[in-house]
Amino acid sequence: KQKNGHQSEFLQAVEEIFLSLVPVFEQHPEYIEHNILSRIVEPDRIVSFRVAWQDDQNQVQVNRGYRVQFSNVVGPYKGGLRFHPTVNESIMKFLAFEQIFKNSLTGQPIGGGKGGSDFNPKGKSNSEIMRFCQAFMTELYRHIGPDVDVPAGDIGVGGREIGYLYGQYKRIRGAHEAGVLTGKTPGFGGSLARKEATGYGLVYFVGEMLRDAGESFLNKTVVVSGSGNVAIYAIEKLQHLGAKVVSCSDSNGYIYDPEGIDLKVVKEIKEVKGDRIKTYVDYRPNATYTEGCNGIWSIPCDIALPCATQNEIDGDSARTLVENGVKVVAEGANMPSNLEAINVFLDNKVLFGPAKAANAGGVAVSALEMAQNSGRNYWSFNEVDEKLHNIMRSIFAESKEAAEKYGQPGNLVVGSNIAGFVKVANGMISEGVY
Ligand code: NDP
Repeated sequence: KQKNGHQSEFLQAVEEIFLSLVPVFEQHPEYIEHNILSRIVEPDRIVSFRVAWQDDQNQVQVNRGYRVQFSNVVGPYKGGLRFHPTVNESIMKFLAFEQIFKNSLTGQPIGGGKGGSDFNPKGKSNSEIMRFCQAFMTELYRHIGPDVDVPAGDIGVGGREIGYLYGQYKRIRGAHEAGVLTGKTPGFGGSLARKEATGYGLVYFVGEMLRDAGESFLNKTVVVSGSGNVAIYAIEKLQHLGAKVVSCSDSNGYIYDPEGIDLKVVKEIKEVKGDRIKTYVDYRPNATYTEGCNGIWSIPCDIALPCATQNEIDGDSARTLVENGVKVVAEGANMPSNLEAINVFLDNKVLFGPAKAANAGGVAVSALEMAQNSGRNYWSFNEVDEKLHNIMRSIFAESKEAAEKYGQPGNLVVGSNIAGFVKVANGMISEGVY
């Protein structure tokens, strides 16, 4: 806390994990002996750099770029790039720290990292996005590589941006090194099903939670926040499995469609037109739009899936969800519930799927993309989807087992933190002090 006092998001993420690890340290004195906790909260390195680029009016703009390389104990640093005006060192560090344990949980050989910039892509032309991505990669390239650090997309970074970033990396390096970035378009090294992976994976994870409780998706009412990559493909899979999704949102407000969301309309607004979610009511007059984001959690539902951003559910929103009878909450976004909200869910016996476990499907398929790139082959959509489903099943099983083993049965927060941590801690001991 003394060293990172001003980094509230990072401290929040560390606190959540450390609280879960208390029973592990009671049973494993070797982790204390090797000073694992002090070592694991200090990133291997943080790179921060100037990104200067020219806008369409030929004005020179300056943003700040970051790459946090937190831990490569299990494999090359791996984690997305976020382009959003709120990006700062604390947010980069919290995301990279969480990524270590999430990546370890997938069972794939990938370490933890994260990066991005305070660049705001909203309202920028396609040429401006391209020039920004090229300027960003002109510095980033020297810090990454297929066996070193493999970035991917996150908020504000999708297939288009990954394409521009990869193009610039290739020009600088003078070589195709497809495994340096994931989330590429399938035409030049991308994996089928990567775009769908986080949303589908989240729903597969919730499916395991429901199955374990003797339930299914049939006739369940679901609220999903966000309308980006994670939200859209979560909604697609939920509808496929028979659930009724009644709401989604963007950073301005949320829509409520009591008959069930028309996903074709959401895709048209967000993926084709890049418009605001409020225009949904132009296509579906029976739906309503409400300005502001918090109110989405007052819609009664059986399952709530926050898929927008960090800290979108506070204690009050969590209590409202509980009062309205929510049975399952699972996190598609990273750290969308604050600590108070998590405690409200756990105290009220809501089945709670934490981000680290529930949204690990995206990075898991990124690791499958790396595997395809290094083997120079392509797997079919169904092959990747099947592997994703199996990975989500085993993340659930391992998290559940760890929670039971360490005396907190049913608590997947504790279970996933422990299951992810133990592999990394053992690796740190095996690889020696550094
Ligand atoms: P997108 O940029 O595709 O979508 C983000 C969505 O969240 C948009 O609808 C956006 O609205 C909304 N949003 C952003 N900021 C806020 C805010 N402050 N308040 C309310 N809504 C907001 O991102 P993704 O779908 O890729 O990512 C969503 C979350 O999932 C993030 O936490 C990300 O880290 C996490 N995640 C993503 C993975 C992936 O594979 N994409 C993998 C694992 C986790 P608007 O359009 O108005 O900005």
